[in-house]
Amino acid sequence: MEYVTPETAGPFVAEPNASPLELLEKHFGYKSFRPGQEEVIEHVLAGNDAVVLMPTGGGKSLCYQVPALAMDGLTVVVSPLIALMKDQVQALQANGIPAAFLNSTLTYSEEQTIETQLRCGAMKLLYVSPERLLSQNFLDRVAEWNPVLFAIDEAHCISSWGHAFRPEYKRLDILKKVFPKVPLIALTATADKTVRGDIAQHLGMRNERLFTSSFDRPNLSLAVLPGQNRWAMLQRIMARHDGECGIIYCNSRKGTEKLAAQLQGIGIRADFYHARMDAADRDSVQDEFISGKLHVVCATIAFGMGIDKGDVRFVIHWNMPGTLEGYYQEIGRAGRDGTPAETILFYSYADVQTHMHFMEEVADAQYKAIMGAKLDRMKEYAEAQVCRRMVLLSYFSEEVVKPCGNCDVCKDPPKYFDGTLLAQKALSAMFRCHQGIGMSVLIDVLKGTHSQEVQQQGLSAVKTFGAGADVSAFAWVMFIQQFLQQGLIEIDYKDRYHLKITPLGHRVLKGEHPVQLVTPDTVKERQERTRKAKLPQATEVAPASADLLAQLKVLRLSISKEIGKPAFVVFSDATLIDMATKKPRNVYEFRLVNGVGDHKTKLYAEKFLAVIGANVD
Ligand code: ADP
Ligand code: ZN
Repeated sequence: MEYVTPETAGPFVAEPNASPLELLEKHFGYKSFRPGQEEVIEHVLAGNDAVVLMPTGGGKSLCYQVPALAMDGLTVVVSPLIALMKDQVQALQANGIPAAFLNSTLTYSEEQTIETQLRCGAMKLLYVSPERLLSQNFLDRVAEWNPVLFAIDEAHCISSWGHAFRPEYKRLDILKKVFPKVPLIALTATADKTVRGDIAQHLGMRNERLFTSSFDRPNLSLAVLPGQNRWAMLQRIMARHDGECGIIYCNSRKGTEKLAAQLQGIGIRADFYHARMDAADRDSVQDEFISGKLHVVCATIAFGMGIDKGDVRFVIHWNMPGTLEGYYQEIGRAGRDGTPAETILFYSYADVQTHMHFMEEVADAQYKAIMGAKLDRMKEYAEAQVCRRMVLLSYFSEEVVKPCGNCDVCKDPPKYFDGTLLAQKALSAMFRCHQGIGMSVLIDVLKGTHSQEVQQQGLSAVKTFGAGADVSAFAWVMFIQQFLQQGLIEIDYKDRYHLKITPLGHRVLKGEHPVQLVTPDTVKERQERTRKAKLPQATEVAPASADLLAQLKVLRLSISKEIGKPAFVVFSDATLIDMATKKPRNVYEFRLVNGVGDHKTKLYAEKFLAVIGANVD
């Protein structure tokens, strides 16, 4: 690992007078901020705390990297994964920004060198693991390095409610105690409402602001295919991703090994990855995937967290995950460069049973109940008859009023009917029961059933009691699921799973938003059809100049070999596509390509311009 090279170690002065946009342009070569980034940056630069929720690939890193450049001092980034630290540091150094990490992979003398640089103020960003940060005397040393900002990455690990709890994260509240005046920014890509609340509270933030940018990743296509004939379908999917990189998630170690062997058998550069392999093998698979040598990794969920690889063109779930958080995070590894990518989930009831089987073994009753509820939502997603992106985004409490057009349901929509009145009946019953009931009692109230719960709570007196008696209980289940999927209502896990009306639901009650529903018959009929499903259409990536793009990729690969770093550290796919489209003729035009900053212009302009020039003439 090389930390600060002579080339990157030059005098680096803080640029308090440059605007965030100027810093973005100069150092990263990006021409504009993504939604949400600039607001966060200004808030942090004003000395405030922030919780930032952005989808994977949304651009969280820049939310603290740009402030780090503007401020005179050190930004300390707490990050749980070694691979993630390495990628980030490499990417920063490639842009000429002095950055380093401290973790167990460094030798003593490497650490000493870095600490010397920290003491003389030559470093802008330092990445550390939570264990290191909390280790003895470390915070005393940090105090000597003039810390001006703390960033906590993967902040959802702090909540025992989330799906990736790490106990040591809970001790990070010490930062605010030792450095009360230093702003703190916590970032995550996966947090439902409950987890969000935990983050600010456990870190002891004061007057923090929560920034949530849209979780939508419009460039990812979404599709669910039946789990039968997976192999035959997979071969056809592979055929349209020839030479491209992708991840296939399996739920077992054996599954990953078997599938990788099958793929190798049809000539695909595939390998497997799971937690039982030894660390050296895991690292080598990961490195080969990142460098592009390996095209497909068949992996368990152990793979992928923190892998910053922009050009993953597909993510396939061979098996269904147990939560929508996990699922969304995994598909989020596709298309991080913003260009189209495909995601496919194979769904079979056997996978649901596997999850239920694992749950049986969980001792903690409350945890078990939460996992059960989360599995239900995952299953509903797989069976959904409304736009899948709507289901996903409303799960993360994001309001979506229009179908997306880039999922299998939107591409082949069912017949809808106007369900506004039905929705109003259910919402009004919930409202009159003070939003203190779950799904089965709600159905009792709608049907006018004098069940035990209804009698105990005196619910037969509410005005809407029996207002939906003409609809079967089964049909109500199907409709209420659709209300959940469309974000009209939500489940409150901290209040005994009672159903709550969302702001969008209130608009439906007031007659301001119409509701489209699918009949239970249509649902059944379409589930039948799914079993004989056709494959979704190939995603179209049509770069203006496919030939030139291929040549630019070859050049990138040779540079990446020369400097011994992954290809994306040189340029991302998105940058090469922009380059192939703009065909710059001189250094000035080269600098205008998205993702080309001052430093990379100096390093690479000549080589890339030569290839482009040879093509244009
Ligand atoms: P995550 O939110 O998953 O941490 P990253 O910060 O790694 O996402 O950003 C994902 C990718 O998007 C990176 O390649 C990054 O350089 C790129 N990116 C971030 N912000 C912008 C921007 N404003 N314009 C163009 N590309 C950006
Ligand atoms: Zn859709």
